[in-house]
Amino acid sequence: MQIIGLNREELEDLVLELGEPRYRARQILDWVYKKGVDDFGQMSNLPVLFQQRLQAQGLVVSAVTPAGAAETADGTKKYLFRLSDGCGVEAVYIPEQKRKTVCFSTQVGCPVGCSFCATGRQGFERNLTAGEIVDQVRKIGLEKKTRITHAVAMGQGEPLANYAATLKALRLLNADYGLQMAARHLTVSTSGVVPAIYRLADEQLQINLALSLHATSDQLRSALIPLNRTYPLAQVIRACRDYAAKTNRRVTLEYIMLDGVNDGEDDLARLAELATGWLCHVNLIPYNPVPGGAYRPSPPQTCQRFLGYLQE
Ligand code: SF4
Repeated sequence: MQIIGLNREELEDLVLELGEPRYRARQILDWVYKKGVDDFGQMSNLPVLFQQRLQAQGLVVSAVTPAGAAETADGTKKYLFRLSDGCGVEAVYIPEQKRKTVCFSTQVGCPVGCSFCATGRQGFERNLTAGEIVDQVRKIGLEKKTRITHAVAMGQGEPLANYAATLKALRLLNADYGLQMAARHLTVSTSGVVPAIYRLADEQLQINLALSLHATSDQLRSALIPLNRTYPLAQVIRACRDYAAKTNRRVTLEYIMLDGVNDGEDDLARLAELATGWLCHVNLIPYNPVPGGAYRPSPPQTCQRFLGYLQE
């Protein structure tokens, strides 16, 4: 079992079961999150016998192992992490002045199967645990020797289809004994799991919601995002509006610009209408083509036209 996905209460129960006082949990959490130590043997304020007992119980700290990385000229770095069962997931570090963001994965593969997405084509293997999610962020912060300020659940997987683990990970990222990240700097991006959006709104966490919108008609959105057949556009937008009203957090509508698919004048008019009158903003995203895929990015002038019209 891994320590990294346990919250403070669970870790306290564990150390009490092992016959140690409750405060040992706090000591372990300090080593893991504040000092970035993964080896019980280096936790020098723990009795040696207790260190040995932790190891003998088959406990380990970390849940993911870096297995490769690629960095671009602007400092963006993509990481591959290996999980204990051999599966791999990706996370991305994005530095922008003071803001250091990690985009993390919540599932191995994805069950949603969006037609424009490389992960969607892989199919779905399994949900990540809370530990496997939070450790992507922790490991990247340690490797970059920096404090990660923002985190977004926008990597592989549909976060709200792995609700419990994603929420637990977000609470660990936010906790005073965890990575101490402001809730307002945490974002969940969803393709539109409507019941989970309502549930998230009731969690009383000030986290941000982003919706992968990508189309403004049910016909096109269902072709791009099959989940739209279960939760059509009107229901998804109603849930997002409810989220914004309940949390007072602005919802981001993500819109990937696909040449000749969703970048016409009608699309633009509907997008503007859909984004009017409530607490949201639109994020236009240039498409990054998938090898062998059917879609192309919209020309820059089309993106500019969308941007100018929406700003107006
Ligand atoms: Fe890809 Fe996200 Fe769609 Fe899953 S929900 S297939 S990860 S775009």
